[in-house]
Amino acid sequence: MHNSLIDLYSDTRTKPTPAMRRAMAEAEVGDEQVGEDPTVNELVRRVAALLGKEDAVFLPSGTMCNEIALLVHCRAGEEVITDATSHIINFEGGAPAALSGVMIRPLQGKRGIYSAAQVEAAVRSESRYAPRTRLVEVEQTANLGGGAVWPLDTLDAVVAAAKRHRLALHMDGARLMNAVVASGVPAARHAQGFDSVWIDFSKGLGCPVGAALAGSKSFIAEAWRWKQRLGGAMRQAGILAAAGLYALEHHVERLEEDHIAASALAVGLAGIAGVTVEPVDTNIVYFNVAGTGMDDATFAQRLRDQGVRVGAFGGGRIRAVTHLDVPREAIPRALDAVRRVVGQKS
Ligand SMILES: *Cc1c(COP(=O)(O)O)cnc(C)c1O
Repeated sequence: MHNSLIDLYSDTRTKPTPAMRRAMAEAEVGDEQVGEDPTVNELVRRVAALLGKEDAVFLPSGTMCNEIALLVHCRAGEEVITDATSHIINFEGGAPAALSGVMIRPLQGKRGIYSAAQVEAAVRSESRYAPRTRLVEVEQTANLGGGAVWPLDTLDAVVAAAKRHRLALHMDGARLMNAVVASGVPAARHAQGFDSVWIDFSKGLGCPVGAALAGSKSFIAEAWRWKQRLGGAMRQAGILAAAGLYALEHHVERLEEDHIAASALAVGLAGIAGVTVEPVDTNIVYFNVAGTGMDDATFAQRLRDQGVRVGAFGGGRIRAVTHLDVPREAIPRALDAVRRVVGQKS
């Protein structure tokens, strides 16, 4: 264990635990595509209740949740308001353009969080010259924003602004449960007023595959049509849904441990010469190593040689993400490795 890799690259690196694998192996299954998988049905019922929506659909990935939501809410040529750092802009292979044909209006928020006033300013007035503004998208927590948690009053103000202009609202909740644990506010409250919202099972919740998208009954009926069209309708998917059910019972409260590990990492990093650390709300730590004289790719490679994997994000920016497979005791070892890389004594 002592010499094993400390993988802080992403919370997607978690592997299913023995107990989760047992739950998967023992899952009751059926044909998901015709609504006959009891474990999938139980998972979507629980997710809908958790998120305060009428219904939900199980999908292979968070990316498919986002893209199906865009497909259901928007028509080609319409405009989506979101932060410039959002996942739909930066990490989905251009899918909003390729699949829905929407235009995106990127806002310059702070740590991925924009204001209701910015939404108001971006909404276009009705004109045949301008794209029609259709949807407002929020990421809770904001990934490139440093795992930042949108405060409830900001969410409420954005919801009110969108509703004033009859815009639909979509929440990318890949790490919504991290926001829930960090804020103590229930998931349904975060998602209040949103027409669609989803959670990812394959990030901090530690499942191998899966996400669930929630909304009204009619929204989910349309989402199912796209799931079918895109080839996301599955068969004995209860094997995967069982991991999700296991995670909702056993892996939510423990996200607190990841947040504690992340703040311990941030505190340690802040004491290392040449390293500057961004604020930490949840399980994501961004820091900049430009002050050490190394670029981020070189730093990440040298740290990898010391047994710690992180992500290099350009401009000296490094991302480290804590999760289920990084015990808190690993943080001092990770910090020692950083000190060795920047040439200090550990
Ligand atoms: C990971 C992530 C996604 C995509 O989820 P996948 O399950 O990897 O497809 C979407 N949004 C955010 C904010 C993410 O971090």
